[in-house]
Amino acid sequence: MDDIDRLQDTLSEDSDRLQRERARRHALEANAVIPEHRECHECGESIPGARLRARPLATLCIDCQQDAERHHS
Ligand SMILES: [Zn+2]
Repeated sequence: MDDIDRLQDTLSEDSDRLQRERARRHALEANAVIPEHRECHECGESIPGARLRARPLATLCIDCQQDAERHHS
């Protein structure tokens, strides 16, 4: 096996992993029961259903989400 073959092996392994990860995430979102609303983990305000339909896994209200993103950067 030469270097090119080895490189291609590594690349296809990576994309396999990527596809599995993507499929796992899709399954998560598809199976997630979308409640009418959910309480924000941060401030306890209710997260509107519209937001939960767009982001089924959201656990923060828009305000807290924006806050969290600001702290990240
Ligand atoms: Zn909040």
